[in-house]
Amino acid sequence: MQRRFNVFSYKERYGLRLQRLTLDAGFTCPNRDGTLGLGGCTFCDNAAFHPAYTRGKSISEQIDAGIAFHRTRGRKADAYLAYFQAFSNTYAPLSVLKDRYEEALAHPLVKGLVIGTRPDCVDAEKLEYLASLRAAGKIVEVEYGIESVYDKTLQRVHRGHDFACTDKAVRDTARLGLPVCGHVILGLPGETREIILEGIRILNSLPLTSLKFHQLQIIKGTPMEKEFAQKPEDFLRMGPDAYVDLLADILERLRPDIAIERIASSVPPAFTDSPWGLLKHEVLMHRLERRLEQRDTRQGQRVVAIGP
Ligand code: SF4
Repeated sequence: MQRRFNVFSYKERYGLRLQRLTLDAGFTCPNRDGTLGLGGCTFCDNAAFHPAYTRGKSISEQIDAGIAFHRTRGRKADAYLAYFQAFSNTYAPLSVLKDRYEEALAHPLVKGLVIGTRPDCVDAEKLEYLASLRAAGKIVEVEYGIESVYDKTLQRVHRGHDFACTDKAVRDTARLGLPVCGHVILGLPGETREIILEGIRILNSLPLTSLKFHQLQIIKGTPMEKEFAQKPEDFLRMGPDAYVDLLADILERLRPDIAIERIASSVPPAFTDSPWGLLKHEVLMHRLERRLEQRDTRQGQRVVAIGP
């Protein structure tokens, strides 16, 4: 059956069944170490996203533990990608980055890297190094936290950079032939449904290869939890049905070549009071497919591009 949206697949992209191994390479983030701020983005609690197998281990040990973790859950893979996810994984001198990345690449089952970072934590030297790894036959992908295309929102969540910074990083990365994934949060304060949908035109203008959408999850103990308690009317709170509707509207407006890697995230229940429960990602993907089918529409049906 032909899908109604462009679902990301490593098998299609590289001809291999690849499993990502989430790693914590010990980096921090300029929005937490005092360079830009100490409190971080108001929604962030990185601890909520770290698998237990990463704690207190070297990169090689995390890779072995990650492979064992996925194998015991019956997940078959031809090879693995080292996913540098925690905090900002290009936020260190190049010599340090090389040590960490190359330790991962030295593992016989690791075919490449996925580097999650902030757009203000890359420069030409780092990107050229990543491009050289790719030219040498490694899989290398860069994932930027875009979060929002609006400066007003980025300021409100204390992001510490503006959208022009994102625009530049994405273009500089894509120019070197590196696939670029963007991470976008739906439901940040002040963003209505209309504002979010209008922002898709801006995403369409970027040379992105893929996107991850996440519903805003209000994590306990974060500044956003307080903000939500004070001004709940500023937040677009959605149950899964309304969220799937919004995603269908987004996909209709999104360039069809942009692959969708994720449409939601879930943090362990201890971190949030989300009413979503433990809704599986595959279930939500299935619901989205059905919603597009019911509407007889597909990704890109109503695209209004302004050109990459
Ligand atoms: S979301 Fe990313 S950039 Fe923001 S504080 Fe957390 S680790 Fe830093």
